[in-house]
Amino acid sequence: MTSPAPAPRARLLLTGDELLRGFVQDANSGFVAAQLRELGIELDQVRVVGDDFGVISDALVEALERDEVDLVVVTGGLGPTHDDRTSEAVARALGTSLELDEAALAVVEARVRAYGRMRTPEEVATFTPGNRKQATLPAGATWADPLGTAPGYAVEAGGRVVVVLPGPPSELRHAWSGVARTPEVAAVRARVPARHERLIRFWGVPESRASQALVEVGHEDAAAARVTLCARDGELEVSVRGDDAGAVDALVAQLDGALPGSAFATDDHRSVVELVAQGLLDRDWWLATAESCTGGMLGSLVTGVPGAGNWYLGGVVSYANEAKSELLGVAPELVAEHGAVSEPVARAMAEGVRDRLSAQVGIGITGLAGPSGGTEEKPVGTVHLGIALPGATHHRQIRVPGDRETVRRRSCVIVLHELRRLLERS
Ligand code: ATP
Repeated sequence: MTSPAPAPRARLLLTGDELLRGFVQDANSGFVAAQLRELGIELDQVRVVGDDFGVISDALVEALERDEVDLVVVTGGLGPTHDDRTSEAVARALGTSLELDEAALAVVEARVRAYGRMRTPEEVATFTPGNRKQATLPAGATWADPLGTAPGYAVEAGGRVVVVLPGPPSELRHAWSGVARTPEVAAVRARVPARHERLIRFWGVPESRASQALVEVGHEDAAAARVTLCARDGELEVSVRGDDAGAVDALVAQLDGALPGSAFATDDHRSVVELVAQGLLDRDWWLATAESCTGGMLGSLVTGVPGAGNWYLGGVVSYANEAKSELLGVAPELVAEHGAVSEPVARAMAEGVRDRLSAQVGIGITGLAGPSGGTEEKPVGTVHLGIALPGATHHRQIRVPGDRETVRRRSCVIVLHELRRLLERS
């Protein structure tokens, strides 16, 4: 039996002294990695290099000649200034020349003229030589219409492809959408073997428990099915892929069986907010939120999903005890007797916001995000979650380890998963 062809391999080179020196945080590698994964191209390494022409060129030669990767994606260094030398480095590594592309120059100049309306004539005059440089590309490159003044492009040599994208994140995303459709990238995509990939997502399963479950079902990370685990805020995503669809499906089913009741989404990438949204829309129910320690973070998460206006009425940030009483009707005696961080107050907040906004579902969150203010009885990270549904109010107390930000974010994710579970059961 012949073994299946391997997937094409890619390497990502992020260029820029500002990244190496910590002035700018990388916002591009996650995007490029996800795009390559979707195309079925295996990213083997991400490297950050400075603006040095020789270093960029050497890294390219190493990727293309020594490691024989099929596709190298280079980001940054396409600007008009003398230190933007990525195209020169690409040409040197591929042993090709640089040529002025008249059509690219016309597009770049049109962009500069458009910007020129906002600049002085002196400023525009300084752009011109630099913009000729931006339109000077390795021979044979196919470029894509730019968002700014730097066209991204793809160039092929000896069956290997180099894709070059501008550094600013919005320009990079725009350039990728054009460059991914070039014949050069299409040729790499054509070599992607048919693969079967499944995704199963668990809630409340630690990575260690999932690894143990994999051993229990007899899985070895072999060619038949490769497994990647990714834990995030209490969710665990397990991706299973391989050439044999039967083996992949069997492993997903075995894992589901080994971790009963924990899988919440299979082959479904929707966020927990989107799953909650679906549950509410199915019932024609509306949600309202009352937040103390999360200060509106839950409302922000919820409204981050397009269409939230069809199921989310709004929220109240009730931080002080007076606000809890005045805005939500939480009885001051309740706070006096049990404290603001307590089960009765979380329940009263959830019911109060539900009733005041005439929703069917209310969420109340009250907790100690820290770093100070904890006691032996109520340590930092103690959070009470109330969920008021028609007919019953649910409560859960959690203890989240970590800093203030982690306690706040986790509380939001946990209460959303609690609501998702309740909606599934109701
Ligand atoms: P420009 O035409 O704007 O000069 P460029 O392709 O030459 O684009 P760079 O000069 O390398 O790109 O970077 C321009 C800016 O883009 C940087 O100052 C930085 O703010 C941003 N940038 C570059 N790379 C990244 C990255 N990986 N993540 C986030 N921002 C980045």
